[in-house]
Amino acid sequence: MQEIDLKDLDTTSFEKKVYLIADEVLTVLKELSRENQKQINSKTIAEKMFLKDSVKTLLAGYSTKITNDNAPDLDRLKEIANSLLDKLAGIVPDSLSEDLNKLKNNFHEELRQNASDGLESPINVIKKYIDSLAKRNTELEDFLKQNMQYLRDIDKHFADQLTSQQQKSKDDRDFEDGIYDYANMMRQECNLNNDINTLKAAFLSKLEHITQGIEQKREKDILRVQETEMTIEQMRLRMVEIKREAEAMKKRAEEAESISYRDNLTGLHNRRAYDDRVAETLANVQRYNISASLMICDIDFFKKINDNLGHKVGDLALKKLADLLVERLRKNDFIARYGGEEFVILLPHTDLQGAANAGEGIRAYIDKSVFSYKNQKIPLTISVGISAFRKEDDVNAVFERADHALYLAKRTGRNRVKTENDIGGPANLP
Ligand code: GH3
Ligand code: MG
Ligand code: MG
Repeated sequence: MQEIDLKDLDTTSFEKKVYLIADEVLTVLKELSRENQKQINSKTIAEKMFLKDSVKTLLAGYSTKITNDNAPDLDRLKEIANSLLDKLAGIVPDSLSEDLNKLKNNFHEELRQNASDGLESPINVIKKYIDSLAKRNTELEDFLKQNMQYLRDIDKHFADQLTSQQQKSKDDRDFEDGIYDYANMMRQECNLNNDINTLKAAFLSKLEHITQGIEQKREKDILRVQETEMTIEQMRLRMVEIKREAEAMKKRAEEAESISYRDNLTGLHNRRAYDDRVAETLANVQRYNISASLMICDIDFFKKINDNLGHKVGDLALKKLADLLVERLRKNDFIARYGGEEFVILLPHTDLQGAANAGEGIRAYIDKSVFSYKNQKIPLTISVGISAFRKEDDVNAVFERADHALYLAKRTGRNRVKTENDIGGPANLP
């Protein structure tokens, strides 16, 4: 692989390379949507990205640490990075602006420590952005395209109608003119012929023409009505189809939305969903004077499972625990994976005592259940800390009390439940 000398890391080439990577991400995205991939996620994007020679070369070139001696003009790099991030800020959804802000603040430091981090961070943000929005955007684009076609159909229909209407007026006029012509001719025959039989024959022949004319006109009118009816029916069917597509798209958008509120590994609510729900719960407590509790469950000695049996088994344990929580807790309880092996549960309409009972129930249930891997039984227990929402709380205060109770549960032997009442005043706090 081609090594890039760090002396080459001048700011212009850095800028070019960052944009090149952004371009590659977009190319990959286009490829994926052309391949009609059902799920475009950062993993597939990353996999494709790292197959690209240009990306491989770039990342290889920046893998060497920058020391103070060979550091490029960091202020200039920061400026470039900021301008790239500003550009991104214009297109990413609100949910990612926090990431962008963090990135901005850390950029200077990251560049100093490792240029490849500095390069990868914007890529990660682009990946995240693409992950959450790309699928919906292509769908939206397709949908709009189809709607445009529909509008064009309507337009064409009206244009056709107009020509056919103009044609009809002309036909009507011709028809009327024809009748006048025949009436005039008949008047002339009256003046010319005295013999009643000749007159009768002449009249009959003209009447025959008029009857034929009327019939032809009627046939034409019927045909026209049939054509219009057919077009209207086609448009109605298209309308039904569009409505169905719109509904399916709405459903998929909702699903995509729900995925971004879910934890990938366990399928539980994620931290983002918790942040929304805890604020909502607190608002309900303050507004309606109802009770609600918060429970933190933390797996005991989880590091041992990872260290002794590997991360894969650790992941299986997390899934197993998530299933047990869902099985044992109430439907109304809101279960979220808060971080690595910590789970937070919001229990609406439950006071501290009720939550302590629920906590003991779930603790015992997990203790009793069997988690095994390759016929080896692996101990799986949790420690639990519980607090009850107070009107004067903010979301951090109620969490902190449960966290202190959890700490006490850990300190006093693990595999047990403690509530904020057990903390017993600030003297016992860690
Ligand atoms: P304690 O009883 O005091 O809670 O001990 P512990 O070992 O459970 O706690 P500690 O906080 O020291 O370790 C938590 C470990 O969880 C460390 C980290 O490697 C692991 N972890 C965090 N997230 C994941 C994950 O998604 N998968 C796996 N397999 N492990 C994870
Ligand atoms: Mg922990
Ligand atoms: Mg733990």
